[in-house]
Amino acid sequence: MLKEPSFHVRDKVSLWWKDLCAVGCADSELSSNRLKASISFKLGKGSFLEFWFDTWFGTTPLETLFLDLVLLTSNPHAKVADMGSWNGETWNWSFDINCDVENGAAATQFFDLVILLAPVQPCQLIEDSFVWWRNTSGLTVSNAYDSILSFDSLTPLLNNSNSLAFSRLWKTKVPSRIHILGWRLIWNRLASKVELAKRGILLDPSLLVCSLCGRAQEDLDHFFLHCDIARDWWNKLFLWLHLDDIIPTGTILERIICMENYCKSYFNLDVGWYFGLIFCWTIWKCRNEVIFNGWFCLSLMG
Ligand SMILES: [Zn+2]
Repeated sequence: MLKEPSFHVRDKVSLWWKDLCAVGCADSELSSNRLKASISFKLGKGSFLEFWFDTWFGTTPLETLFLDLVLLTSNPHAKVADMGSWNGETWNWSFDINCDVENGAAATQFFDLVILLAPVQPCQLIEDSFVWWRNTSGLTVSNAYDSILSFDSLTPLLNNSNSLAFSRLWKTKVPSRIHILGWRLIWNRLASKVELAKRGILLDPSLLVCSLCGRAQEDLDHFFLHCDIARDWWNKLFLWLHLDDIIPTGTILERIICMENYCKSYFNLDVGWYFGLIFCWTIWKCRNEVIFNGWFCLSLMG
């Protein structure tokens, strides 16, 4: 790992950093990975940081969030500075990705990447630097999204209930990719088949059928709430948690909030949206396994 360009020991670095790098070089790949996992980077010019593989945005490399896009780029080890250009003091991202609209997963990820990085730009006068993971001076996914929400085009959509939803979402301790799922749910931007059709990616109506039950069009309400299979899973979850209450109808966000309230009142647990998000993530992962890896729904009924 320390042979990667981002970890090259530059001329003017402290002795302890050189020692640390030396330990990483001499040690196994495992210890190197541990070192890398504990470091994130603060974006400066972007000339030392690998766009996909260094943790310069949020708490995980972009590669873990946008795996489909990494496979479509001609230079996976491109630096951040290679992924755009300056026009005066304005940075314009220019992603080197051959994104085919037929590839729904990649198209969705590409759209998310554009939105995600829109408010982010390198600093022309500052070198890249590193921070220990979780250092508050590093960039977090949460504050990046907050800055996205300050964009004029999105601000009118942010009502009080959405503000509250984002606040609960970011306080919930789940991996970044599950935060993103929650973020998409709040904005109704998860790539269900109906959403892909709206964006002109899926054009054949026969392809819009729910990936799990095959009986209705796959929009988010159907998929997470009304689908027979999803409903069966919700019932099992409520049984497992010994919750006697009737599962509420409404939106998926209302159900997630309901789960949060149940955890507080029945178990005295303030875990935010943890159960709701993890459950939605699990359903979504199963759906993707059906689509991309040929899982059969019968096997999901157990
Ligand atoms: Zn269904």
